[in-house]
Amino acid sequence: AEAHRYAVFGHPIAHSLSPEIHGSFAAQLGIHLSYETIDAAPGDFAAAVRRFFADGGLGANVTLPHKEAAFALASEHSEAAARVGAANTLTPLVGGKLHAHNTDGSGFVRDITERHSLDLRGHDALLLGAGGAAKAVAWALLDAGVQTLTIVNRTPERADQLADAIGDPARCHTRYWDGLDGECFDLVVNATSIGVTGGSFDLPMSILQDHSTCYDLCYGAAAASFKGWATAAGARYFRDGLGMLVEQAADAFERWHGTRPDTDPVYNALRQRF
Ligand code: NDP
Repeated sequence: AEAHRYAVFGHPIAHSLSPEIHGSFAAQLGIHLSYETIDAAPGDFAAAVRRFFADGGLGANVTLPHKEAAFALASEHSEAAARVGAANTLTPLVGGKLHAHNTDGSGFVRDITERHSLDLRGHDALLLGAGGAAKAVAWALLDAGVQTLTIVNRTPERADQLADAIGDPARCHTRYWDGLDGECFDLVVNATSIGVTGGSFDLPMSILQDHSTCYDLCYGAAAASFKGWATAAGARYFRDGLGMLVEQAADAFERWHGTRPDTDPVYNALRQRF
């Protein structure tokens, strides 16, 4: 019988780890599936998604630059997707309709609280960035019980828009990137693409305390620049986004297959290479 079809859409997408991650989960659970990469330029994305599901596709992950477009294609949205206005997981509904979900926030929190055993409750967190991933992480941090969330972004208006959308001024506020002198954080999360696009983390080193954790959504070479800043600032705990990548995939996998895979073997195997 033909394998059940899954895919990840992106542009570019060739180096995506998602086929390997979903393939490993499936092998672990004895599930037979195919999981392909589909490179779609922005103008072709909607048609490519429709074709995939019309041909019997059972689930699609979506990555840069299509997460907002994926959200717009769906007629039903989970709360996690609706809050962010972006989706990384599409599931077919009856009648050719699509359901949109977003597992970036849940994957981030699961990695940090379960893999790295960090209890976020009562933390003062600083979030760098206000793009799609930052939005998901902001909501997830507040759900996980941080005491305060401070958002800074190169384009300050986008940080303000995110804080306004969250609408919890007692806990969540913005600062200017160069307005952090005198502040201290338990957790500093890099959700910018500085590690990919280039740029510097000119933040006061005094924002870190001895116990503070620095977390970069990026992994591999792209995590080098934030790690460089964190190391220079004396951070004792640095985590990269490889665990988040595996956990967001596991949350999508669970939605499609109804079973949660053990993420540790996949994470450990990838860790050897990144
Ligand atoms: P977006 O393009 O939506 O957002 C990019 C963010 O980075 C914006 O806040 C932007 O600021 C900021 N930025 C970009 N360049 C610079 C610069 N030179 N100086 C300062 N700020 C800059 O990207 P995403 O939110 O989708 O992704 C962000 C990062 O997170 C990516 O590197 C991605 O790979 C990673 N990621 C990792 C995941 C994982 O599972 N590990 C999941 C999702 C994302 P501005 O608003 O001013 O443009």
